[in-house]
Amino acid sequence: MNRRFHGNNARRLFAPWVALALIAIGSCSRTDAPRSTAPDSASPRPSILIVTLDTTRADSIGPEAEGVETPAFNALAARGRRFRHAYATAPETLPSHSSMMTGLYPAGHGVHENARHLAAAHPVLAERLQQHGYRTAAFVSSFVLARRFGLARGFDLYDDEMPAGSPERSAARTTERALEYLRSVPDGPVLLWVHYFDPHTPYAPPAPFTSRYPDEPYLGEIAAMDEQLGRLLEAFETRAKAPRAIVVAGDHGEGLGDHGEIQHGNLLYQSTMRVPLVIVGPAIEPGVTDTPVSVRRVFHTVLDLAGSDSAHSLRDAGPEVVLGEAMKPFLEYGWQPQVMAIEGRRKAILAGRVEAYDVVSDPDEARDLGAGANLPGTLRKALEEYPVPSPESARAPENLTEEARRQLASLGYVSAGSPPIVRKDAPRPVDMVHLFETLEKASTLFVQERYADVVPLLEKILSEDPGNLDAMLRLATAHSTLGQDDRAVDAFRKAAAIAPRSPDVRTYLALHYARGKEWARAVALLEPIVAENPERLPAVEALAAIRERQGRPAEAITLRQKVYAMRSPTPTELVHLGRLAMSVRQTPLAVESFEKARTAHGDAFEHDLELGVLYLDARRFEDARAALDRVPSSHPDHAMALFKRAQVSVLLNEPDRAARIDRARRGANATTRELIARERLFEGLRAP
Ligand SMILES: [Zn+2]
Repeated sequence: MNRRFHGNNARRLFAPWVALALIAIGSCSRTDAPRSTAPDSASPRPSILIVTLDTTRADSIGPEAEGVETPAFNALAARGRRFRHAYATAPETLPSHSSMMTGLYPAGHGVHENARHLAAAHPVLAERLQQHGYRTAAFVSSFVLARRFGLARGFDLYDDEMPAGSPERSAARTTERALEYLRSVPDGPVLLWVHYFDPHTPYAPPAPFTSRYPDEPYLGEIAAMDEQLGRLLEAFETRAKAPRAIVVAGDHGEGLGDHGEIQHGNLLYQSTMRVPLVIVGPAIEPGVTDTPVSVRRVFHTVLDLAGSDSAHSLRDAGPEVVLGEAMKPFLEYGWQPQVMAIEGRRKAILAGRVEAYDVVSDPDEARDLGAGANLPGTLRKALEEYPVPSPESARAPENLTEEARRQLASLGYVSAGSPPIVRKDAPRPVDMVHLFETLEKASTLFVQERYADVVPLLEKILSEDPGNLDAMLRLATAHSTLGQDDRAVDAFRKAAAIAPRSPDVRTYLALHYARGKEWARAVALLEPIVAENPERLPAVEALAAIRERQGRPAEAITLRQKVYAMRSPTPTELVHLGRLAMSVRQTPLAVESFEKARTAHGDAFEHDLELGVLYLDARRFEDARAALDRVPSSHPDHAMALFKRAQVSVLLNEPDRAARIDRARRGANATTRELIARERLFEGLRAP
C-alpha cells in the first residue's frame, strides 16, 4: 500500500518528458569468488551431492512409506545410512535450509520465517568448501530460496532462475539444469546442491503420476520427484569422479490434516517436523539409525565428508537433544511461541504449556502425556532454555519489493506488516487450527490489494482472535483504502488499544491520513517514528512521499537516500530519485541515479534525454552528445533533444553545428522555439 501511495505522485511533480516504465531486471546467477588452492590431503576429497526435498513427510518416501513407490530413494537408502528420526529445525523452507547450510538452529542463524535474510555474519557450507578447494553449484526450485534471501554465498553458480511468471520450477527442469552443469564441470571435487519443490502445494503431479495417484496427488508429486532424483543420482554417479558422497534430506513435512494442519509452518507435530534423511559415502556404514538427529547436522556431516572437520558429523550420531521451533504464529499473529525438544522416544512441545509424547509407541501424537510426563531433565532444560526471538530482533527491516511480496504470496507466504507483541491473551496455535486457512487466504488477498474481499475474512479472524494486531491493522488499512473513513478510524482506535505504543499503528494511521491528503496530521505521526527508529522503512518511505507531495523535494531526497541505504532501489525508483535530484539541481546525484538505472535497464532505458541534459549541466559535453544521440525520434519530447543536441554541437564546435541548429528550429515545439530564439550560443550561426 505504501508503494501505491507514493506511486500516485510520481507523475505529478515533474517533468513533461518522462514516462515511468516498470521494467524487471534479469538476474545474473554467476558469482566470481576467489578460489583458494586446495590443501594437500592424503585421501582425495569426494564430490558431494546434497539433495533437499521440500515438503516431504518422512512417512511419504522410502521403504516404509505406504501407498507410494519411490524406487530411487529406496535404492539410495539401501546402500547408505537412513535416519528414521531426523527432524527439521523449523517447519518452513528458508529457516530449515538456513540450518542445513549453517549448522545452527533458527535461534542461532536468526531466520525464523520465510522472506527473511540469512545474515552475512554466519559462515555457510558452500563458503567453507570453496575455501577447501571445491567447485560449488546450487540449483533451487522455488523463489523462497532465491539468492536475495542469503543462501547463495559461497556458490560459484547459484541457479535460482524460475520459469517466466512462476515462483517455482519443476524437478524435471531443475534436474535438466543440474545435469548440464555435471556435463560441463571440470575434474576436481564438486559440491552440488539440488533443491526440489514439487510436493509443495498446489499438488499437481505431471503425467503419468496424475493417473497413477488419482486420489493422492501429494504422493503423486513425491513419486514424480523421486523419478527426477533417480536421474540426478545416476548422472552424479557417472559424471562426478569417485570418491563421491550423497546427502538427501527433507526440509520439513506436510500436515495433510494431522492435528488439523493442512500444510506446514504453524505447528510442531511429526507430520511437518519428521523428515527423510539418508547419507551415502566413504566410511559410512549402511544401515538404519533410530537415534533422533537434526537436519542442521547436514552442515557438519558435509564438512566431515570433505575432510575439513568431523565435529557433530552424522557419521557418528551419538544421542543428543534435538530442538525445533515454529515461530510463525508468534511473529505473525502474536500467538504463543512454540519450541520442541526430542530425546530418545520422548518429545515435548512448549507452547504456553507443555505437551509430551512418546513418539515411538504413539507416532501420531494422539496421547498427550502432559506436563506431568516423566521427561528427562536434559530435555526439559533444553526446551526451557531455547531462546524465543525478541520482537525487535526477529523483525529485521523489510527489504522486499512489492514484486517479491507478490511472488511469495503466490506461494502462500505472506509476512505480517507488524512486529509481534507480547499478548496476555496469546492463544496456543494448536487451538486455532480452524483459523489457519482463513488467515492465509486473508494474507493473500491483502497482498493482492483485493481490499473489499479481504474485509469479511479479517472480521471473522478478529471475532475469534480480537487481540490480533496484524489483522486489525490490515482491516484498518483495507477500510482506509476503500475510502471508508469512519470504519478505518474505528479499527485504528482498536489497534491502538491492543498495542498502545506500537510504531506500526502510528505508521499505518499516518498512511491513512496521507491518503486523505491530511499531510500535517500524517507528518506529526511520522516524524517522531523516523527520529526514534530510522530503520523503520515503511515510516521513512511514507514521510519521503509526503515531503514530495508537499513540494519539499530536498527533504524527500534525503529520506529516500536513507531508504536506499537499507534496501536497494528498483530501476524505477532510481529514475524517480534522478528526477527529484534534477528538480533541485543536485546534478551529481541525478547523474548517478540515472546512470545506475541505465545499467539496470540496458536497452530498455528511456531516459537518455534527462541524462543528456544533466551531462550538459555538468559540462560533460562528450557524454551529453552520446546520450542525446541515443534519444529516438519517437521520443515525445524529441524537440527538446534536438535543441540540447544543437547546444552541445556548438559547445563542441562540431562542423555541422549550424545544421544542428537548423534541425532544432525545424523540429521545434512551442517550448523549444522560445528557447532557441533566446539562445545566445546560436547567435550568428546559420546553416550554409
Ligand atoms: Zn520447504
